[in-house]
Amino acid sequence: MTKNYIAGEWLSATEASANVNPSNTNDVVGEYARASVAEAERAIAAAYDAFPAWSRSSIQQRHDILKAVGDEILARKEELGRLLSREEGKTLPEGIGEVTRAAQIFLFFSGECLRMAGEKVPSVRPLIDVEITREPVGVVGLITPWNFPIAIPAWKIAPALAYGNTVVFKPADLVPGSAHALSEIIIRAGVPAGVFNLVMGRGSVVGEAMLQSPKVSAISFTGSVPTGRKVAQTCITADPMKKVQLEMGGKNPMVVLDDADLKVAVECAVNSAFFSTGQRCTASSRLIVTEGIHDRFVAAMQERMQGLVIDDALKAGTHIGPVVDQSQLDQDLKYIRIGQEEGAKLVAGGELLKRETPGFYLAPALFTEVSNQMRVAREEIFGPVATVTRARDYDEALELANDTPFGLSSGICTTSLKYANHFKRNAEAGMVMVNLPTAGVDYHVPFGGRKSSSYGPREQGRYAQEFYTTVKTAYTFDGNGPYVPKTKGSE
Ligand code: NAD
Repeated sequence: MTKNYIAGEWLSATEASANVNPSNTNDVVGEYARASVAEAERAIAAAYDAFPAWSRSSIQQRHDILKAVGDEILARKEELGRLLSREEGKTLPEGIGEVTRAAQIFLFFSGECLRMAGEKVPSVRPLIDVEITREPVGVVGLITPWNFPIAIPAWKIAPALAYGNTVVFKPADLVPGSAHALSEIIIRAGVPAGVFNLVMGRGSVVGEAMLQSPKVSAISFTGSVPTGRKVAQTCITADPMKKVQLEMGGKNPMVVLDDADLKVAVECAVNSAFFSTGQRCTASSRLIVTEGIHDRFVAAMQERMQGLVIDDALKAGTHIGPVVDQSQLDQDLKYIRIGQEEGAKLVAGGELLKRETPGFYLAPALFTEVSNQMRVAREEIFGPVATVTRARDYDEALELANDTPFGLSSGICTTSLKYANHFKRNAEAGMVMVNLPTAGVDYHVPFGGRKSSSYGPREQGRYAQEFYTTVKTAYTFDGNGPYVPKTKGSE
């Protein structure tokens, strides 16, 4: 059984969970330790004790560690990509791509260690200097979902360590393999005991212990809206209160206007609705298409979808791997039924597929005649299921795009600069894409959304420092003798 890493040691647990390959349920990737509350608390205590020294560690040391992590991930991207695809079900090129991105994130933050800066500004009062600096927050608890088993941990762990915090990392129960491999690399890179801890296990056990502990100063969470809401409530009612950052669900629209390049629109839609099995928070699950192109777009989508190869994630030539597990598959099938009951028309896919090995294979589903009030258009399905909604014109398309409780990513396909610019300014989303899939982002710029998709500061790029640091404003009187205010009320 693979172990948890707590206080500088690999420790076995009394419980384990089987990590099953969704492309072949006879293939068990491994048995992974499941931590108890006591083990989680031990990890938190170790991170707490390690914080004073690590928060004062040299930026050179932090740079060197993060650089070593990035270099090793990159050197082993094929092997790690294979492990990721085997446990999560995204295709091998997607798995290798995600691993590469994780490496780039570590390399980016290794550079950020050397670029920490503060400000020195004049005071409004004479002979006083004001310095504004950033300090680490303390012990940060990192809770991650299953759909990006290495990139999301990377974009939380790298900035947390870069800015001098200590870490307790709880990966999703479904994908401990990539988390474990990443942790081995971080430890090999020379991170001191207690600075980084891996506690695999259940959210209701390990995650909850992190939320309850007064030694944890901040929680960065990525996952579903209901869990995120609970995490936030616990953090802000805790004593002392915890800093909290949430990245949650999406119901991302992609608008296709009459003047769009049809080929571009179809590629954007197929990529962002169905690749990675539709299991991306930035997936376009709502395609909003204006009258003049609607029928041609639907026909082109049906044709393009016939050419998609849905098979074992590790097989060469597979475009779309299996759904991650039985319960996600049940959810996808439930929504396909709901769509039909609501009166939407299933024009492609939606059926279970048999392949050489037993796995959770689902043909990507496309619904037409969908109103924006239907549940399939409002609730996050998180599978390869997309809906097409007709819009009269651009104005109605924009209104429909924004009519959602979510606000992560929003896209438009058009050849009109006027509409593209108007959409960029008026889409109620954290990220806007023009003639690009709604999923697929750079690693050096902020990532996040609005409304129920995100809460708290942005992740990634330089903006990550907002969450992983706290600002201090220091005043110094540099005249002679103790400072005596000259006029009453000036202090
Ligand atoms: P989830 O909410 O079920 O779980 C996320 C994490 O929270 C897991 O590690 C889980 O063990 C943990 N958890 C569960 N209960 C907890 C509790 N009571 N206390 C503390 N932690 C707890 O989400 P999931 O099914 O793993 O992931 C899919 C969801 O993640 C989708 O909604 C998707 O949109 C979202 N997601 C969002 C982003 C983003 O950046 N916005 C990125 C990827 C995934």
